[in-house]
Amino acid sequence: MKRPIENYHALRLSALAEKLTKNNFDVHLAENSQAAVNIVINKIVPALAPQTIAWGGSMTFMDSGIASAITALGPKIINAKEEGISKEEKIERLRAAMTADLYFTGTNAVTQAGQLVNLDMVGNRVGALTFGPREVVVLIGQNKLVPDLETAMRRIKDYAAPANAMRLDMKTPCAKTGVCMDCTSPQRICNTWTITEKAFPPKRIKVILICEDLGL
Ligand code: SF4
Repeated sequence: MKRPIENYHALRLSALAEKLTKNNFDVHLAENSQAAVNIVINKIVPALAPQTIAWGGSMTFMDSGIASAITALGPKIINAKEEGISKEEKIERLRAAMTADLYFTGTNAVTQAGQLVNLDMVGNRVGALTFGPREVVVLIGQNKLVPDLETAMRRIKDYAAPANAMRLDMKTPCAKTGVCMDCTSPQRICNTWTITEKAFPPKRIKVILICEDLGL
């Protein structure tokens, strides 16, 4: 067989797509990041015609090229990550993002049963996923797929959270050791868990499954 690894991931994501669809998510499969950009630019954005677009912290959103592609589209962009803005302005933009027409985010893990599992510091990302923005797009690389909820939570605490703490240069024990110490640090990034079992209303949450390793 040619390209067995790619075939392996494609099959697993295809099975996941079925589960997510049964859970009322609007599912799109992308063979790579460029295909994901095309889905966003040529299908999702034209269908929704959003007036405002925002996003939560997501390496997948930035690394896939979708961030740069949508900034050229025309809708008002609410960018809470813009360099040089004050802390107060950042908070105001995070609040404004909660009522955007279209919101992009990633997920910390997705189970084979089609559940999205996330752990947030501020809560804006999981808040928007749950309620607020009219429509949400969740970008998921193949590396985020895990067997079940227990594995998802372990993946997040053993890997994603410490790695993110390092990436964000947080003053937390895990950023020094790579191991979660269930800290009481003021910069603790692990504050709110969410498990999204089904999309409500149906198809409000669009999922793009990307056959690439993306994000942490
Ligand atoms: S609880 Fe603290 S030590 Fe554990 S992963 Fe989160 S930030 Fe790091």
